[in-house]
Amino acid sequence: MTTPDTSAETTARRLLIVGPPGAGKGTQAARLAAEAGIPAISTGDIFRANVAGETELGLLAKSYMDKGEYVPDSVTNDMVRSRLAEADAADGFLLDGYPRTLDQVDALDGILADLGAALDAVLLLEADDDTVVERLIERGRASGRSDDTEETIRHRLSVYAAQTTPLIDVYEARGLVRRVDGMASIDEVTAALREALRTR
Ligand code: ADP
Repeated sequence: MTTPDTSAETTARRLLIVGPPGAGKGTQAARLAAEAGIPAISTGDIFRANVAGETELGLLAKSYMDKGEYVPDSVTNDMVRSRLAEADAADGFLLDGYPRTLDQVDALDGILADLGAALDAVLLLEADDDTVVERLIERGRASGRSDDTEETIRHRLSVYAAQTTPLIDVYEARGLVRRVDGMASIDEVTAALREALRTR
């Protein structure tokens, strides 16, 4: 006889992580997803892989990313639809960097409805502007990421405020948002996110 694995039932498995650029979404998403045995799917990473591979999608995405603008919704939505249809995402996923616009929220609703799936929780990682600007300037120095220059960072923050913060109200109204302070150490933030997923 096998011991029933109840973790899949008790732990949220279809997740979003939302927060300003530099809040630490990518770092935390990788950790949480590994622990939960689900893929962390970062639209930014997929775009960067396409830029590196010099694909048609990469060329298009780069023209927006380097200015700190969002890639057009139609492009991003199609990309996410095909990624979520892959086998490894069937039992769960942690989406990082998507949705970022209200149009993308609608698109994701449609994608999930078609898959017969629903979101379990939206993790909101909060961090103040000065901290994220500092972190991103440092990341730009260390990694050479072409959108991590002070001017582009400031623009990305204003795009986030204008286009992405309205999503939080939408998901709040659905009772899905779990807020976590992203200003603590990486390990402390991971622990807080874990806790936020365990408790309701
Ligand atoms: P950050 O969160 O630090 O801005 P990301 O790697 O998530 O970094 O995203 C980098 C860039 O990729 C964004 O500025 C944007 O141009 C593009 N991008 C990523 N996700 C999306 C999305 N959901 N919709 C539109 N553009 C996106």
